[in-house]
Amino acid sequence: MNKLGNYITGNWIIGDGDGQTLYNAVTGESIGAASTKGLDFKSITDYARTVGNPALRKMTFHARGNMLKALALHLRNHLDKFYAISYQTGATKADSWVDIEGGIGNLFSNASLRRKFPDEVFCIDGESHNLSEHKTFMGTHILSPKEGVAIHINAFNFPVWGMLEKIAVNLLAGMPCIVKPATVTSYLTEAVVKEIIASKILPEGALQLVCGSAGDLLDHVTSQDVVTFTGSASTGLMLKSNPIILREAVPFNMEADSLNCIVMGEDVEPGMPEWDIFIKEIRKEMTLKAGQRCTGIRRIFVQENKMEDVWKAIGTSLSQTVIGNPLNTKVRMGSLAGQSQRKEVKEQVQKLLASSQIVYGSLDSVDVVDADGNKGAFMSPVLLMNENPFAATAAHEVEAFGPVSTIMPFKNLEEAVELSKLGKGSLCSTIVTADYKQARQYVIGAATHHGRILVLNNECAKESTGHGSPLPLLVHGGPGRAGGGEEMGGIRGVKPYLQRTALQGSPTTITAITNVYQPNAKGKDPGKHPFTKYFEELVIGDQIITEKRVITAEDIDKFADLSGDHFYAHIKTTDFTGTMFEQQVAHGYFIMSLAAGLFVDSYEKNPVLLNYGIDELRFTKPVYPGAEVYIRFTCKEKLPNDKRVVENPEDFKRGDDIEKGIVKWLVEFFDETDEITGVATILTMVARKI
Ligand code: NAP
Repeated sequence: MNKLGNYITGNWIIGDGDGQTLYNAVTGESIGAASTKGLDFKSITDYARTVGNPALRKMTFHARGNMLKALALHLRNHLDKFYAISYQTGATKADSWVDIEGGIGNLFSNASLRRKFPDEVFCIDGESHNLSEHKTFMGTHILSPKEGVAIHINAFNFPVWGMLEKIAVNLLAGMPCIVKPATVTSYLTEAVVKEIIASKILPEGALQLVCGSAGDLLDHVTSQDVVTFTGSASTGLMLKSNPIILREAVPFNMEADSLNCIVMGEDVEPGMPEWDIFIKEIRKEMTLKAGQRCTGIRRIFVQENKMEDVWKAIGTSLSQTVIGNPLNTKVRMGSLAGQSQRKEVKEQVQKLLASSQIVYGSLDSVDVVDADGNKGAFMSPVLLMNENPFAATAAHEVEAFGPVSTIMPFKNLEEAVELSKLGKGSLCSTIVTADYKQARQYVIGAATHHGRILVLNNECAKESTGHGSPLPLLVHGGPGRAGGGEEMGGIRGVKPYLQRTALQGSPTTITAITNVYQPNAKGKDPGKHPFTKYFEELVIGDQIITEKRVITAEDIDKFADLSGDHFYAHIKTTDFTGTMFEQQVAHGYFIMSLAAGLFVDSYEKNPVLLNYGIDELRFTKPVYPGAEVYIRFTCKEKLPNDKRVVENPEDFKRGDDIEKGIVKWLVEFFDETDEITGVATILTMVARKI
């Protein structure tokens, strides 16, 4: 029998014994086995910490991000192979797209996140704080990659996305990982890991894979490790309670099952676009991936007088879904991942049936095309109705991880909010309404119990990514029953793999450590105007103090005319009684503009290619006619800017061939009393010398 490989300690190793047999979910035929018997899990964790970790932590965020991009591009060349295997899990083309290309998309998205980090092995987190009267003592926070290994224990439903969305963030952070996919669909994860390892894009030790039982893996964790778990609440609780995880205070991020709901706003009536949007969203969520999605809609809340119309409309819509062999292009819903999953879903439905009835579908039969409904793990969508959702609570507690959902009535939106919370914490919830007041009431009422809320109406439905799709830039996770975890959400998703340390010292010391200029640190004589220096030549702290310029009432009048900004505070003749100002005040933007006039160097061409924008700009003291303004201009931070790779010469844009970087400058505005009147961070694009 074809046994899956485990990629550990630099080699592909086959586990001992027969292992667990794996089946094609569509045909029921055996396709291989997975075993981790005989593996030494301690040496696997040690290898990650001693080989993978040092290799990754010495790379910068930008190098790690570029590595993710290269990996995503590489995997895109092997899509056909992955799709062919994915069909065996019962997934249709659309399901597989979410899993495979969604996973690769996540790699791309995290690769782009590198731009939010410095080109350093660690980074500053958040703002700096002056902590002393004479500004010689300050504090900030830094984030450094943990010295351990990230262990990802994943659920069976997304064997590719589940792995890639998790490893993207630990790799970007600079930590290696061990992936343990759910055994039943691990053959697809293995195929992807084979390509990743063969590509040699990741440093050795950065990724290890175990297919089959996790053995005593979690008994070897240490305080520098991170464990993530995606799966059922019961397994999660058991693993989270591991005494070694507790003793070592190992962060444990849990993404568990949840009873996500959709609510129809009170305003939605048949004939409104929102009515059809509601029905369509439910059909999509019940049938995509045969309902095996952690975010799947398990509970449907509708005002009591519309119940019958809604469940009939959902039934009609579900009846149009062709079920069967995912290789048949007409098929819209494939099978469950295996016979044991089907058995479990049916058992869970039996529990729900104690307090509800089936209004669409059947537990005993299903019409399928191009397949055998019994040999394959096929199941009909099942819509249940529970008429008494406050008293009969099984629908808020029992997850049937398949194409199963329960419709329940509410009297008014307040009740719908209460019902949504009976799920005791969910990954996501959707309200369909065209009424902004209803939307606001629901969001404010239900937000505490949900990780994500989608407000769906005719304005956004066409372009909406849908109820069930976690997105790389938005957090995924939920409180309570959903596991209490949080992942993704842009840089939020990277932070769990980084240790946050508060750092205190003098501004000059902290500038030297972080390579980011801190306000009040000593400046450096640049030797020549910084605008005449190439990117590589600029030094953090390079500083100039400009000439002075006296502000006149005429300047302010002229700026008002030029910009069209005749706000009363800038007009000489205004009666200033009861205002914030004593007299005509200069426009803040005028001061910003004249600052550029003072710090910009010359008419000669120089390495500065363009002004890229302003990150922050504050006006802290009014500037009146007669004030003498000067600027302190300091090189604050340097960020690499990757050359745009143009595959098609027609896409070439002017400047694509120039090697360059982004430079941030701290601009401090002073007046004749040497007090700061404003501060800005401006960005320029600067050419490299090479
Ligand atoms: P599961 O049975 O809880 O298994 C999850 C993972 O835990 C699998 O990799 C499993 O490996 C592993 N595992 C089980 N016992 C273990 C042990 N003693 N030590 C170490 N690992 C162990 O869940 P599932 O059936 O795969 O997935 C379905 C559930 O996942 C559903 O309830 C769904 O809602 C939830 N889910 C949640 C999310 C989310 O993001 N919140 C996403 C997807 C799925 P084996 O396969 O080898 O047993």
